[in-house]
Amino acid sequence: MAQVIEWVNPGEDEIIWRYPNEVIKWGAQLIVHEYEVAVFMRDGKIYDVLGPGRHTLTTQNLPLLYRLVGGSNSPFKATVIFVSMKQFQGRYGGETQTRELAPVKYYGVYWFKVADPVLFITEVVGGQSLYDTADVTKFIRAYFNEGMMKHLSAYSIVDLFQNLDMVSTQVKVKLMEDFRRLGLELVDVKIEGVNTTDEWRQRLFWIMQTGNAQAVMQMDTAKQVAAELGKSEGAAIGTGMVVMPQLLQQPAQPAQPAQPYAGGGVPPAGYQQPAQQAGQEICPYCGKPIPAGARFCPYCGHEIKRCPNGHVVPEGAKFCPVCGAKIE
Ligand SMILES: [Zn+2]
Ligand SMILES: [Zn+2]
Repeated sequence: MAQVIEWVNPGEDEIIWRYPNEVIKWGAQLIVHEYEVAVFMRDGKIYDVLGPGRHTLTTQNLPLLYRLVGGSNSPFKATVIFVSMKQFQGRYGGETQTRELAPVKYYGVYWFKVADPVLFITEVVGGQSLYDTADVTKFIRAYFNEGMMKHLSAYSIVDLFQNLDMVSTQVKVKLMEDFRRLGLELVDVKIEGVNTTDEWRQRLFWIMQTGNAQAVMQMDTAKQVAAELGKSEGAAIGTGMVVMPQLLQQPAQPAQPAQPYAGGGVPPAGYQQPAQQAGQEICPYCGKPIPAGARFCPYCGHEIKRCPNGHVVPEGAKFCPVCGAKIE
C-alpha cells in the first residue's frame, strides 16, 4: 500500500501539523487541501514546498530533496509540515506604561494568517522549534503583546484616552510590519479597552479640564493640581476662561457671583484633611463630580465650603451634615 501523507480533519484553530513519520518513500501520495501548504524540511532547513493538490512524490516535484539525497531512489528522511493559510483570531491583553509612565491595561482581538509559509516556518516553526499549534499560537500571542506594549508606550495618556481611534490605527500599522517579519499577515486589530489607576484617571480629568498636560504632570497628585487651580486667579469665574474652558459653557449665576480668590490667603480650615471617602465628591451647587479636596468646582466655578474635617457642606449650613462639626 502506498504511503499517504495527509493532514486529516484539521481543527478550526490549527495552524500547523507535522506528519509523524519522518521516513518518506518516493511514489508516496501527498494530499494538500485548499488553504494548505506542505513544506519539506530536513535538519532545520526548508527544501521543497508543495501547494494544494494530490501529488505523487517524484524526483520532479521534490528536486531539492532529491539532490540532497544524492539522486538515490531509496526512502529518505524529511519532516513534512502542513501550514494552514486560513485566517485565525487571537485575543490579547496586558499591561504597559504610557510616555509619562502612567500604568495602562489594555485588551482586544486580532486576526492574522500565514502570508509567507517559508518565512513563517523559518522564523517561527523551525527557528523556535515549535512543532505544534498550541506552541505556535502561544508564541504569536506573546509576540503580538510585546509589540503592543512597546508601541502603546510611545503615546501619552491623553492620546490613549482621548484619541484611541488614532492610536489604534497607528499601532496597527506598526504591528503589521512586525508580523510581516514572521511571514504573517496581521489582518486587523481591535483595541476593546484601555484602563488606568484611579490616581491617573483623576490626573487625566484635570488635564482634560485645563488642557495643560505638562503642568498636571509636574504635580505629584491631582489634589495638588486642584489646590494650584484654586490659587490661580483664573479659578474665579469671569477670568476662568483661559484656565478652564468649561466655565464658558456655564454662565455665571447673577444671584450668587463667585468670590474671586486673590491667592496667598490662608486656605480654608480642614483643607489638609480631605474628605474620608476616596475618589470624587459632588459639587453641592451644580451636582457634578469634582475631585476630592477641590476648592472650586471646575464646572460652575463655585467655591466649595468645607467643615473643619474636610467634608463638603452646603452654603449657609451651621453644622456639617456628615460629622456634625460646627461651621465657623
Ligand atoms: Zn459646581
Ligand atoms: Zn464634617
